[in-house]
Amino acid sequence: MSATPKDAAAVILLRQNTDPANPEVFWVKRSDKLAFLGGFHAFPGGQIDADDAAVNVRNAPNPETAAMISGAARELFEELGVLAVRGGETLTKGQRVSLLDDLESGRMTWSKLLDHYELHLDANDFTYAGRWVTPPFNARRFDTWFFLVNCPPRQEPNVIAGELSSGEWLTARDAYDRWLHDQVVAVPPTLHALRTLAAGITPNLSERFLSIPQAHGEPARRITFRPNYICFPVRTPTRPPATHTCCYLVYNSKEILIFDPGSPYEDEQEALAACVDEMIGEGRQVREIILTHLHPDHVGGVNALKAHLGGSVPVAAHAQTADALSDVHVDRLIEDNDVIALEGEPRIQLRALHTPGHALGHLCFHDEARGVLLTGDNIVGIGSVLIDPPQGNMRVYLQSLERMRSLPNLGVLFGGHGPAIATPYQKIDEYIAHRLERERNILDTVRSGITDPKAIVAHVYTDVSPKAHGMAERAVIAHLEKLHDDGLI
Ligand SMILES: [Zn+2]
Repeated sequence: MSATPKDAAAVILLRQNTDPANPEVFWVKRSDKLAFLGGFHAFPGGQIDADDAAVNVRNAPNPETAAMISGAARELFEELGVLAVRGGETLTKGQRVSLLDDLESGRMTWSKLLDHYELHLDANDFTYAGRWVTPPFNARRFDTWFFLVNCPPRQEPNVIAGELSSGEWLTARDAYDRWLHDQVVAVPPTLHALRTLAAGITPNLSERFLSIPQAHGEPARRITFRPNYICFPVRTPTRPPATHTCCYLVYNSKEILIFDPGSPYEDEQEALAACVDEMIGEGRQVREIILTHLHPDHVGGVNALKAHLGGSVPVAAHAQTADALSDVHVDRLIEDNDVIALEGEPRIQLRALHTPGHALGHLCFHDEARGVLLTGDNIVGIGSVLIDPPQGNMRVYLQSLERMRSLPNLGVLFGGHGPAIATPYQKIDEYIAHRLERERNILDTVRSGITDPKAIVAHVYTDVSPKAHGMAERAVIAHLEKLHDDGLI
């Protein structure tokens, strides 16, 4: 079951008296520490509170819109100190800071605060700019309403440390250019807003914002966190909390590489095939279907896709993946350090890295120039990585993580499940630290005389639900093998 989206609101803040032909917006970088889209560039916003509905928003068409506007205004205030309210024009900066303190300290709720200082919200100050729902491949999902808001006179946004690490005014065109040049990671609604604004503030601006189905709450199927890389999550019988496997389409003007078309379900296979067909229709060829590793949730749709494409597109994988697969035929073997360079523009070159540990023939793919690493199931954006012997090997897995950690210029990780990871080195460090901590605890437990894997799980995996103890037992066996190989037990 996919998570149910929670109501949220976000503000696309426009600079006061900005040039309508090339408007300036305020974008923020989300803190690296955030579980949801940490390190991404985005707009200020967040989840709706129960209290948001208690605010009377003048001229709101209905209570739902009022609550969303209230939430958007509150988030804008909490995250950037900008108070987009009526009646507050005479407040000094110092007074706004003191109001914010009332709110943050919990002395007053948002609705009480507005009442107390005789402030009110007016729906006319909030231009609806669409409603986007996080695709179901994420554990945390939001149904986010976006509003365009003009920054009120004599107020300057100021990033308040916490959920955000920085923020700045820049033209929508510059912001979008930074994304095009691989300098930031962003989600589709942010990119859509920047592209729309980059074409200028025109009379039909709202229509342009609302011109695509995703702006009406239909989750995006193709997710472009980075140019030339499409993440296309497909529903698979995978391990919870994941419900989808990320298929990746890496493309340029002439060629497409398809990684891990993993869904065995016909409707998902058809959706992916339609996306591929459209890209072919634009003049490209599918060069290869590439497998990161042998697990069913990564290879379940290979045969269907190959058949759909006429049967002649080769399937490529590591020899140890090819050997272990009986239902999927691998046409070309990929070895460690092999380079795959796409024909066409822009230049895209991926280097294969044999990175076993989760599976014997596991491959990652590094696009050094663009700062992208396809991590397969070695690092994932949702849930944890299972190390299940004999395919899994903890010692080798840690070596693979170290090797990934040593790669230069990592800007984003694309894992086999869940959203992209915009904090690559930090994430790899976390993975390594987490495993080493488990290992220390297991070693201590063994030394205290507990040697049965089941008993070790009960002792060490106290943070994991009993439902997952079967999996944890496999991980303990992997840890014990490593400790044995390391000569520690
Ligand atoms: Zn796997």
